[in-house]
Amino acid sequence: MNIEDILRQNKIKVTKARTRILYIILNSENSISAEQIYNNCINSGEDINLSTVYRTLEAFEEKHIVDKFDLGEGRYTYCLKKNSHMHILRCSLCNREIEVPCPMHQVEELVKNKTGFTLTEHHLILKGICEECKNKKS
Ligand SMILES: [Zn+2]
Ligand SMILES: [Zn+2]
Repeated sequence: MNIEDILRQNKIKVTKARTRILYIILNSENSISAEQIYNNCINSGEDINLSTVYRTLEAFEEKHIVDKFDLGEGRYTYCLKKNSHMHILRCSLCNREIEVPCPMHQVEELVKNKTGFTLTEHHLILKGICEECKNKKS
């Protein structure tokens, strides 16, 4: 799928800046900050300002095109939303199971940022108490 199609599919008006920003995110191996995107644009002769980059990233985030990662200390990076897999969440009381989207992406980014490790695998055991059981108890 090309970049303009992704924008159109998400009902985002195609502009040169948006196309360029999404292109940079698509072609970035690691998650990337707004400043890095901005510098990349400037280096390739794009006439753009930093607030446009921020606004565009916000719009992409709203449309679930990108994931935003909080690296702490007010630093954020962005990457294309992965087709996330699901994990099973099981109720400790009635054993009902539901699927939830993988919550590990944030952790993956933190680990990469702190240690340089790229996680290739994880196992999660999620336990909780479902709403029904919780209501019964109280
Ligand atoms: Zn339950
Ligand atoms: Zn997972």
